[in-house]
Amino acid sequence: MNAIKAEYIWLDGTEPSPLMRSKTKILPEGTEPPVWGFDGSSTNQAPGGASDCVLQPVFSVPDPLRGEPHLLVLCEVLTTEMDPHPSNTRALCREVAEKFASHDPLFGLEQEYTFMRQDGTPLGFPTSGYPAPQGPYYCGVGGSQVFGREIVETHLDMCLEAGLSLSGINAEVMPGQWEFQVGPLGPVEVADQLMLARWLLCRIAEEYKCDATFEPKPAKGDWNGAGCHSNFSTGQMRESYDACIAACEALGKNAMEHVKNYGHGIEDRLTGAHETQRWDTFSYGVSDRGASIRIPWQVKRDGKGYIEDRRPNANCDPYVVTRLITNTVCSAI
Ligand code: ADP
Ligand code: MN
Ligand code: MN
Ligand code: MN
Repeated sequence: MNAIKAEYIWLDGTEPSPLMRSKTKILPEGTEPPVWGFDGSSTNQAPGGASDCVLQPVFSVPDPLRGEPHLLVLCEVLTTEMDPHPSNTRALCREVAEKFASHDPLFGLEQEYTFMRQDGTPLGFPTSGYPAPQGPYYCGVGGSQVFGREIVETHLDMCLEAGLSLSGINAEVMPGQWEFQVGPLGPVEVADQLMLARWLLCRIAEEYKCDATFEPKPAKGDWNGAGCHSNFSTGQMRESYDACIAACEALGKNAMEHVKNYGHGIEDRLTGAHETQRWDTFSYGVSDRGASIRIPWQVKRDGKGYIEDRRPNANCDPYVVTRLITNTVCSAI
């Protein structure tokens, strides 16, 4: 028998930022992953006296690490009454996506992250002190500019093998910092794929004895933070520049609700320096990397397209981000 190793992956209840968890279920060949369970008292999702939580498979892909016929199985967490668990932000995202499906919302998420050595220093930093200042690292080439490329290439290959819609990768402004992009896809689909891509990244980094962290400000001082720029369009925005502007205006009216749900520690990253707008200020502009929302130059030229919400942190919950943007913009335009 060719048993299937199904890696069930879910988001836990850790505050202020949930962690990814996973465990393996052996399935007979040819079977679909069934509902499963776990000990919620070990994941901040239940008290010890009533510890059972339910894993509901929602999105499965071929496992590029273990190979055929093994699977990665993304799950929603349910209570034993089979209702969405309070930590289950995907369920709320689904509702909003269904409500506004006729707007055809699409997202491209730019996930930035940083490789950290086991001693807690960023890959590419000397073990004490600092490397040369920022400048040559972004999209750089060469051994003194680029750190961790082997992990990044492996991750890209594995994401593609799993069938995830990555649209690109690049080295970032701080040494050891990188980015991959997922999408464009719908609000739930893009977040599902981002979760699996994050999990694969952390899992592959294990093999290199380092951590991929989504900390929004992994090095204090004059070093760029890590975000998750969220590119967004509706069918209407893909046809009309006025609709793109209306989307920016709608986001401006609801700015604080978004910022406070875009990931823990956002005030430390959105300082107004390092290609950010301040967290307590809202602005939008064409080509403006110091704005909350950037309108790409081609969008202005073509008179249609999409907008880039630059505020979400690297450690954001993507289901929260896509739900809020979809709800705010689609309710208004
Ligand atoms: P940046 O110039 O900000 O670094 P990237 O190239 O890293 O931009 O990311 C742009 C993302 O926007 C990509 O994931 C791309 O697929 C996505 N994108 C492109 N067109 C649209 C669209 N119409 N709606 C939503 N996302 C889009
Ligand atoms: Mn980018
Ligand atoms: Mn970037
Ligand atoms: Mn960007």
